[in-house]
Amino acid sequence: MNKLHPVGVTLLGSTGSIGVNTLDVLALHPGRFRVIALTANSRVQELAEQCVRFQPQYAVMADADAATRLYEVLKKAAPDVLVLSGPEGLIKVAALDAVDFIMAGIVGAAGLLPSLAAARAGKRVLLANKEALVMSGTLFMQAVREHGATLLPVDSEHNAILQCLPDDYTPGAPPRGVQKIILTASGGPFRTLPVNKLHSVTPEQACAHPNWVMGQKISVDSATMMNKGLEVIEAGYLFGLPMEQIEVLLHPQSIIHSLVEYADGSVLAQMGNPDMRIPISHALGWPERIDSGAGSLDLLKVGTLQFESPDSTRYPCLTLATAAWQAGGTAPAILNAANEVAVQAFLEQRIAFTAIHTVIRQALDQCGVHDADTLETILADDATARAVACEYIESGRAVTA
Ligand code: NAD
Ligand code: MG
Repeated sequence: MNKLHPVGVTLLGSTGSIGVNTLDVLALHPGRFRVIALTANSRVQELAEQCVRFQPQYAVMADADAATRLYEVLKKAAPDVLVLSGPEGLIKVAALDAVDFIMAGIVGAAGLLPSLAAARAGKRVLLANKEALVMSGTLFMQAVREHGATLLPVDSEHNAILQCLPDDYTPGAPPRGVQKIILTASGGPFRTLPVNKLHSVTPEQACAHPNWVMGQKISVDSATMMNKGLEVIEAGYLFGLPMEQIEVLLHPQSIIHSLVEYADGSVLAQMGNPDMRIPISHALGWPERIDSGAGSLDLLKVGTLQFESPDSTRYPCLTLATAAWQAGGTAPAILNAANEVAVQAFLEQRIAFTAIHTVIRQALDQCGVHDADTLETILADDATARAVACEYIESGRAVTA
């Protein structure tokens, strides 16, 4: 680190799983990092406690009523913290002069505008919010290049690939001498459940991931493997590679986080315990290595590493995602928006697990795909896909639980 003062960090989504893991790592390095802003959607009490502990300059609640409640709590508990609200507040704290790094840890499309604002302000963007890149990949990568931002993936697979690429590699450029990259996937909680039982699984079962503790949306995405579909698209943008050079492999132990195969047949893999503090601290410290607080990997205890190929009957969402990526334009944004609506409906027990992919297919069939060359077009197609998905669910045509 060649800065004399502590690095200023904004955490977008600080109350989520990524946010809390990031704060755990930051707390290990108090002189190195300074928290400038913390943000959340509506969890007032949790954000208030984080503000008392980390004393940021700003706290933002996306929800205006929650911001008022936070202000009341902090008036006594942490009076120096300025409380902002709404999407404007999120965008502001992503681009402040005092901020060097942002953790893009908001879930879903809500993270796009603040993450993009940070890229446009030339910050180091630690990207967990894959949906932002899936929606706007070309625009996002262009903003990173044009504004001298540094984009570092926090998603464990993409972070693993970055760790297996040469030290001078810059995200966005096709990596030299690479034959293909291999993204590993655990297969989620239903990898071995008979396919004819999938229709009756509950949100609770879908969120019980075998190896990782994560937010509800990504947990359901892992169970359908839409998460891996989104990650294929994310990898395509981050590493400038076409579909043919990106492979998906099931690896139930989640110890190898991804692999890079080079032209000479060498395959490099990054391994570690399934603990998000590892990729988070890699991106925070890069190019140095800093303590993450994670335990060391005991390979004797792991014993066996298994690999399988994903079955498209069990995981139709993976097929839909790769089709959307190949269709190009706004198709990935349409896929993502319909998936967000479908996952929410499943979590609220309005549709069955096996209806998620039918909702997404409906949106992809019904929505026109456009060039994804402006933010306005992307957001308009996101809104259309949400409307189509909602209408389809409300019409009762999606299989109900
Ligand atoms: P989470 O649900 O635990 O947390 C989401 C955070 O976003 C919360 O702080 C919440 O307050 C905030 N948020 C939600 N809706 C918002 C809105 N409309 N406006 C502003 N803020 C809002 O989710 P998570 O598991 O931490 O995942 C966050 C992102 O990181 C997702 O894109 C996910 O795919 C990605 N990711 C997560 C993990 C993981 O281990 N959790 C791993 C890889 C990638
Ligand atoms: Mg991942």
